[in-house]
Amino acid sequence: MASERKKTGLVILLGAGPGDAGLLTGEGAKWLTRGDVVVYDRLVNPELLKHCSPDTELIFAGKSPRQHVMSQEQISQLLVDRGTAGKIVVRLKGGDPMIFGRACEEAAALHKAGVAFRIVPGITAALGAAAYTGAALTDRRFGNTLAFVTGHEDPAREESAVDFVALAGIDTVIFYMSVGNLPGIVEKLIAAGKPTDTPAIIVENATTPNQRTISATLETLPEAAAAKNVAPPAVIVVGAATQTHEQLGWFENLPLFGRTILVTRSRKQISRLAGQLRELGANVIEAPTIEIKPIADDTLFLEILESMRGQPYDWVVFTSPNGVSEFVSQLTRHSCDARILGRSMIAAVGKATDDELRKVFLSADLVPAEFTTRQLGNELTRFANLDGKRVLLVRSDIATPELPEILTAANAIITELPIYRTTLPETLPPAAVGALQNATADWITFTSSSTVDNFVQLTGDLELQHAANLKFAVIGPVTAQTLQRYNLKPTAKANPYTIDALVEAILAAEC
Ligand code: SAH
Repeated sequence: MASERKKTGLVILLGAGPGDAGLLTGEGAKWLTRGDVVVYDRLVNPELLKHCSPDTELIFAGKSPRQHVMSQEQISQLLVDRGTAGKIVVRLKGGDPMIFGRACEEAAALHKAGVAFRIVPGITAALGAAAYTGAALTDRRFGNTLAFVTGHEDPAREESAVDFVALAGIDTVIFYMSVGNLPGIVEKLIAAGKPTDTPAIIVENATTPNQRTISATLETLPEAAAAKNVAPPAVIVVGAATQTHEQLGWFENLPLFGRTILVTRSRKQISRLAGQLRELGANVIEAPTIEIKPIADDTLFLEILESMRGQPYDWVVFTSPNGVSEFVSQLTRHSCDARILGRSMIAAVGKATDDELRKVFLSADLVPAEFTTRQLGNELTRFANLDGKRVLLVRSDIATPELPEILTAANAIITELPIYRTTLPETLPPAAVGALQNATADWITFTSSSTVDNFVQLTGDLELQHAANLKFAVIGPVTAQTLQRYNLKPTAKANPYTIDALVEAILAAEC
């Protein structure tokens, strides 16, 4: 029987891909979700750790060329120990684990200790760089052979094991870990007979918003790279096929490429806006300025639940996706589900709120064309005769009185249910603070007045006004007014007041 089976550990040697968090495989995402322990390297995009559950043990194993947080032996031992203890251990490595990744040393240690392991491939840096620069690695017009080479050899070896004469005969050669040795590599390749005018590129931070590609010839590459201060991680690609980059380089031409955008919503809500901006090439830094917390005292909720059992409300109004999700989690906590709403009509502010309702098989009867609470009030009074009707408002604890005022004026009987509260996080993430301090941020997006208020509180004396190049994008007129109260001017305003339109407004301001 399964329950009697001894719980044995399993170690997954997993390729994280070259940088872009979207380049993780489906199998990779599955194991990250399941892992009890994740041991990750420096080159792994920290975004990937979002796949992990909150109680996963995350262990940083470091490994930069100069600075090792843990030695290779310590890492192997850690995997063996955790695996032996019956854990699912994910060893997350940059790119592919089998390419210059020392996965085999770790696998051998696991094999020796009798711990089960699997190896899951990832997209290696060379392939990421080729795709995101449009530089072909093979192209039949230019030849048929390809080599992956390390520019950083085993320090224990006295002589170079790389056969440059053989390499000079290969059509495309990719060097990993070679920024520091670039002049030497070029010299040896030329001495071995590679033509000096062979097209070559160096790709730094491939597949990330910081990607830089420098094209040159083999001979001029070291100087070109030094002039631009190219730093690791970078791959060097030498070969005629790379010249397709000139025409096919798409990533660095995306409309928001090179722009750094701080997104200030609640952590849970950031992903959609962040995702859209990233697709357009932006470097998105998440700067959550709001934390959504349930209301601890559920006396009122229980009272309302009881009254709904007796007689459903005529209308239930949700003004945000958070309102829906907190309402549903309260229901679940009290062993109820959405059927408690019975025949109540439902109104929702914004498509996102309606989308959240659909997750629990509900859909709003009314979603106002414009996405403000005032608009909802006006449309609701126009849509239905509210005279003597019981209306439940499911909102945050600090929602404005405007909506109940409009509805009361139409003779509705209002019950307010504050279902969540918004609080100020302690700090902004270091990446966000850094981008503000060294003025690398180009935009900040605000999707509600409280994101503005909280942002100003959190940044305090960062003196945003003086960051001459900083632009602000706001979702609607109310948010714009709040911004102006701090003497800050919005450069982009969404119209209609949606996330999609916010993205469009930023694009329009940039193009
Ligand atoms: N297993 C990894 C390689 C690890 S060795 C893989 O398959 O990609 C580390 C080297 O990989 C770096 O020195 C650099 O040459 C390359 N590299 C890793 N990530 C990179 C990136 N985003 N852009 C360019 N090169 C990268």
